[in-house]
Amino acid sequence: MNVKQEYQVIIIGGGPSGIATSLTLTARGVSNCIVEAELEPTRKFGEAIPPNAKPLLKKLGIMYLIEHPKHAAYYGNKSCWGSDFLEQKEFIKDIYGHGYLLDRLYFEKQLRQHIKYNTSVFLEGYKLKKLVRYTTGIEVKIENNKETSTLGAKYIVDATGRKASVCHQLGKTKKNLDTQFAISFKAKLLKPIEHQINVEATENGWWYVAPQHNNELTIMFFTLKELLPEKKLLASFIRKELEKCLHISKLTKVANLYFDALKVIPSGTSRLDIPYGDDWIAVGDAAFSYDPISSYGITSAFASGFYAGHALASKLSEEDDAMLTYRYILENAFQAYMEKLSNHYALENRWKDSTYWKNRFQIVDVQ
Ligand SMILES: Cc1cc2nc3c(=O)[nH]c(=O)nc-3n(C[C@H](O)[C@H](O)[C@H](O)COP(=O)(O)OP(=O)(O)OC[C@H]3O[C@@H](n4cnc5c(N)ncnc54)[C@H](O)[C@@H]3O)c2cc1C
Repeated sequence: MNVKQEYQVIIIGGGPSGIATSLTLTARGVSNCIVEAELEPTRKFGEAIPPNAKPLLKKLGIMYLIEHPKHAAYYGNKSCWGSDFLEQKEFIKDIYGHGYLLDRLYFEKQLRQHIKYNTSVFLEGYKLKKLVRYTTGIEVKIENNKETSTLGAKYIVDATGRKASVCHQLGKTKKNLDTQFAISFKAKLLKPIEHQINVEATENGWWYVAPQHNNELTIMFFTLKELLPEKKLLASFIRKELEKCLHISKLTKVANLYFDALKVIPSGTSRLDIPYGDDWIAVGDAAFSYDPISSYGITSAFASGFYAGHALASKLSEEDDAMLTYRYILENAFQAYMEKLSNHYALENRWKDSTYWKNRFQIVDVQ
């Protein structure tokens, strides 16, 4: 692929946001290409899809993917938050019905397959190396372990996730509103449990436990960067924190816990000031990253890809307000999220003086 390939839009990143952008652009007749760094899909964090994501997934034509038996329906959450009691929230009252617990690796594989059938050019195993802007458009150098190739386009989409690599090259920095990190590990249950998400607040953060297929559990503890111990002490830190749980420790007592592959991942709220420029637009986590307590990341990635695709297609048809409308939609969603987030954290008053909870009351978005 040594001849320069030209498209109307180049999308860097082939996760949910990049794929939703591409599907929308293709449906609007805009030529586009996705550049994805990983040769094969990798397992990402995040598996809960709330019931209200369904209309969007239908609009994108990918609802059938999550109806695959590899993904499990889930009917509610159990949450110990704000008091010592375990509360049950059932989706039975939700007009959209149940949510889904994804097998995330399988889902990423399905998304790739789906996009390939939908005629998009999907360059896998290629990383963005260099970006040059001209008055006439963008030139992008991408490379894999064999070659460097050049692509040209009128617009570039940053769909690279939290690290927002395209924005970084453009000198646009995301603002971090807090320093939350997740410590994640796997466990295998010795007996099956209900398909529900379990959440529990403790003094130094909160726990998230999601059952997967084959009696596996995804377990995460969310805390602040400043409370994280050094790497060699992580396992004992997690054990101690687990002992503080009133309810989740009952689940983990009937499971084998695998502390050998503990992962520490950024998981706070962050945002770009403005999610677009003259020749670029950011989608998904690259534009706005959400606290996983909201279970909004994947839905937001699809939604922003959908709206960005429409904005770009309209802009290419000389509709000048298209990008402004995109910004308006994303900012409104983000402001609604911020309000819900602060209300939700404010429900927890048992450890008002702990570093973690003090910090949670201070997450504000100052423009
Ligand atoms: C701990 C944790 C728990 C979470 N739990 C949930 C949850 O329960 N529910 C939920 O909805 N969301 C959850 N999320 C968030 C959710 O996973 C993300 O919001 C979602 O994956 C964002 O999609 P995206 O397409 O924007 O980015 P990503 O899925 O990160 O995709 C970005 C893609 O870009 C590629 N890429 C990166 N750099 C380059 C480059 N330079 N060149 C080419 N390609 C590149 C990457 O390989 C990747 O495939 C969670 C997140 C975390 C951290």
